[in-house]
Amino acid sequence: MPDIDLIVREIAEEMRARPDRGDVATYIPELARVDPAAFALAVVDVDGHVAVGGDADVAFSIQSISKVFTLTLALGKVGNRLWERVGREPSGSPFNSIVQLENERGIPRNPFINAGAIAVTDVILSGHQPKEALGEILRFMRFLADDPTISMDDAVAASEQRTGFRNRALANYMKAFGVLENPVDYTLGVYFHHCAIAMSCRQLALAGRFLAHGGRNPATGHSVVSPERARRINAIMMTCGHYDGSGEFAYRVGLPGKSGVGGGILAIAPRKASIAVWSPGLDASGNSHLGRIALERLAQRLGWSVFG
Ligand code: GLU
Repeated sequence: MPDIDLIVREIAEEMRARPDRGDVATYIPELARVDPAAFALAVVDVDGHVAVGGDADVAFSIQSISKVFTLTLALGKVGNRLWERVGREPSGSPFNSIVQLENERGIPRNPFINAGAIAVTDVILSGHQPKEALGEILRFMRFLADDPTISMDDAVAASEQRTGFRNRALANYMKAFGVLENPVDYTLGVYFHHCAIAMSCRQLALAGRFLAHGGRNPATGHSVVSPERARRINAIMMTCGHYDGSGEFAYRVGLPGKSGVGGGILAIAPRKASIAVWSPGLDASGNSHLGRIALERLAQRLGWSVFG
């Protein structure tokens, strides 16, 4: 049996010693304040053992990783009707791209680019006030991680509210086609706030467990989604989870994963583990530079890949 604790610690030490870190996102001003040298890795295995390295209990802005959980919630609410509002094809475009909206008459290409995630947020919001929708998302995260301390970072949300002109453009464009049902400002408010959820790698890896175990949290026995839905969410993470870097991530890591511009990545090794990594410096596609390299090392050393 490989010693996962040792491997995780060694990878964290190796990553911390590297000079190449990528650049911290600055387009959301509050994110620019983060320590670029931070690094964390957490792996929760089948038995619930958590192997950690680095700053695994430091909370960071999960940003687009929240899109995995809002997709799960929206599918729970409207089922496969969700796919009338958003596609599920990789985009090959940057995370904030608007070009493909025009080609598809306002239907975003997948739930993990910003436009798609805004449409998914709108589905969760329908029938609720923004505060209720946010409460539902936060409760879901706390339930999944079994941790009532998880919260939203209001400073990050406010920072993005002030500067999120591109997201506003995407939302207005979709609204013009009737893809969004709610007032644009309400939908965006909920979107910015769920992107601003702050979690540590330990909490995030725990929250992702249901995706590694056929839709069920093995610790609590709670069924979150059906096995089929868990497989499909993993498939979308694999094909769309890293924007225009999704092919590279699949090639190098071989596991479903979702990144966020806060520098986090949630990766799933089906039937084996849920993994969270955080290093704030990003590569050219807006994905964590060292986070991806750390996952590549981990997958190699443990022989974890969905490709056999
Ligand atoms: N809140 C960020 C945005 O909408 C999320 C982007 C990301 O994490 O990729 O730009």
